[in-house]
Amino acid sequence: MSYHKMWADLGMNLEAHDQLLQVLSDGYQKQFLTQKNRPAGMQYLDFVVSEIHGLRVKELVDAQQAGRKVVGSFCVFVPEELILAVDAISVGLCTGAEVGFELAEQYLPRNTCALVKSSFGFKLAGLCPYMETSDVIVGENTCDGKKKGYEQFKDLVKNLYVMDLPQMKSVAGKELLKAEFIRFAAYLEKLTGKKITAASLKEAIRVVNAKRSAVARLARLRAASPAPISGLDSLLINQIFFNENPERFTENINKLCDELEVRIEKGDGVALKDAPRILVSGCPMAVPNWKIPAIIEQNGAVIVGEELCTGERGARWLTEIKGTTVPELIDALVERYWQIDCAVFTPNEDRLASVKKMVADYQADGVLQYSLQFCQPYTIESGLFEKQLEANGIPVLNIETDYSMEDMGQLATRIEAFIERIKQ
Ligand code: SF4
Ligand code: SF4
Repeated sequence: MSYHKMWADLGMNLEAHDQLLQVLSDGYQKQFLTQKNRPAGMQYLDFVVSEIHGLRVKELVDAQQAGRKVVGSFCVFVPEELILAVDAISVGLCTGAEVGFELAEQYLPRNTCALVKSSFGFKLAGLCPYMETSDVIVGENTCDGKKKGYEQFKDLVKNLYVMDLPQMKSVAGKELLKAEFIRFAAYLEKLTGKKITAASLKEAIRVVNAKRSAVARLARLRAASPAPISGLDSLLINQIFFNENPERFTENINKLCDELEVRIEKGDGVALKDAPRILVSGCPMAVPNWKIPAIIEQNGAVIVGEELCTGERGARWLTEIKGTTVPELIDALVERYWQIDCAVFTPNEDRLASVKKMVADYQADGVLQYSLQFCQPYTIESGLFEKQLEANGIPVLNIETDYSMEDMGQLATRIEAFIERIKQ
């Protein structure tokens, strides 16, 4: 089926978009479809990816025609539950590819992280159907690159809403988060003309909890040896988490987990039993940023967990459904989101504890800390964490990179050497 008319109606750059889809499809073919012994359940993800700019976008457009709103966002602090509670649709905006960077650099300094540049690049190059479909894009005051970027991004998109976020886990910080959730809830009610009720919010929490429980189940299964699923496929699941219909996603990931349980029972897996097991930790890896996991797994190691926002940092905690009123349920949401240990917080000791816990839970042999160039929060934390993890006998490799493929050879050499080190 051709979606060209839909993309043209969304104001996209058709020629450049066709080229992007070709590159994506070639990359997917090479990195994902050549993996050995993939679970059959990954066919669902293959289909979702093949239709990521097609069928799913059509669903959004159809929903809009039926009166629903689409809310795009960049950060795991934006509460999907409030969006669902007004019957709107939440979509993550990927920002994982080096597109439109020259255009983005007309607005941003060259030494801005690739994630922020990519958000401008996708918009300026007319390449993201999710951005074009969004009735509102929600930004957040987290790191400086994003915060200052939004001051210009607001003039490029039709509707930008910026959420303020605390930087310290203090009493005042928690109050700010709560005030911002209340302000966002009121904004969503105005945008959609629908009221958040205790029933609609409870149901939304149930849907999002179910989705998070499915990926938590997947995470637990990866503790098995041999690993029943690759890190590359698991990362993809954590990325698609943000765009797919939540109920369909939950159902299919649970089915995949059923299959993995059978594999584990049979001792079947995607890597050798003695393959080095690596935890990846750091900046979010948005679609289609698969560079580091692909190198790790092509070199004989297996990734057993992602301490990333496109991974456990984004999905780890469930919201306890406490209370019978909307304010009580918003309090419950605040409790859940307050636990996110993003590097924009200072101090951020909880995150180091999370990394150590994941190493133990998934029996990782080493940690690869991934930082995007020019990302100060994660790069600075990686230096701090390296000392403490190594002191605990956990080997660490710090990688700083961007979205280009120019450093692939150099990265492969360093990652290979790290794998050799942890094998000893
Ligand atoms: S790293 Fe921090 S700012 Fe970035 S998506 Fe995660 S929580 Fe949000
Ligand atoms: S990767 Fe770092 S610099 Fe880039 S948006 Fe995230 S926190 Fe900010």
